[in-house]
Amino acid sequence: MKKLAVLLMLMAPLASAQDWMATSFEHTEVTPGIYMLTGADGKMSGGGIGLLVGDEYVVLIDDSFTPLGPALLEKIEELAGRPADFIINTHAHGDHTGSNQFQAENGAIIVAHDNLRSRMEGDPEQNTGPGALPIITFSDEMTFHVNGQEAYVFHVPTAHTDGDAAILFREANVIASGDLLFRGIFPFIDLDSGGNVSGYKAAMQKLIDMSDDETKFISGHGPVGSRAGVQQDLEMLIDAEARVKALIDKGMSEEDIVATNPLSIYHDEYNWGFITTERMTRTLIRSLTTD
Ligand SMILES: [Zn+2]
Repeated sequence: MKKLAVLLMLMAPLASAQDWMATSFEHTEVTPGIYMLTGADGKMSGGGIGLLVGDEYVVLIDDSFTPLGPALLEKIEELAGRPADFIINTHAHGDHTGSNQFQAENGAIIVAHDNLRSRMEGDPEQNTGPGALPIITFSDEMTFHVNGQEAYVFHVPTAHTDGDAAILFREANVIASGDLLFRGIFPFIDLDSGGNVSGYKAAMQKLIDMSDDETKFISGHGPVGSRAGVQQDLEMLIDAEARVKALIDKGMSEEDIVATNPLSIYHDEYNWGFITTERMTRTLIRSLTTD
């Protein structure tokens, strides 16, 4: 449904936001007390949102687009009985940080990687006023001790962006990956925001290494994932990169490579409105020729 929503969004650029953007959230209970929130009726609500609910604290991971702040708060209050105490931003994109200011006005303390804050600070569309920026930042890793659980927050360098964080809920065996996981669809690797294909592959491998067959992944985009799913997506990316590299090594130009459609075998499964097969191909070409 999300693929369809994105496609509709791209096909109708002049249509109003209400046509594709969710107006309310629905939830999936990943494990007791940990939820994944998505747009109701299959509509877009931005990146995958995680919510940890407990007696002591309410921790939200990412907070959707700006206009969805009130609807998100409503959903948090429905599940937790009150607003979020903490929000962990997994990276600086607006579909993950859009309602920071609104949630901060409702009491949330926002936590993220140093580079995320720097990127948002320099962007007037994101640095919109008090509460929009994280007030606690970290450089490598940190741990939340909440509700009898450890939430281990760790940075991976130069992957989706240069300010990525993912969260491992140790006891619950849940990983909120942010956009280090586009489950079953081509990933967006934001080369203009410090992302890098090599780093992205390393980050996915790290997610695999720290998980087991029972681990559940709250993906940045796509459904709740498993270790096998992450493995499948990483294998696709490694193979896709090798296919493109073979053509670069033959001396082919970008346009000639795109014309041969080297990722065609993945098109039916992985192509979607935002990262089409062609866009994935061009990202790999650019990454391989500028690394
Ligand atoms: Zn993103």
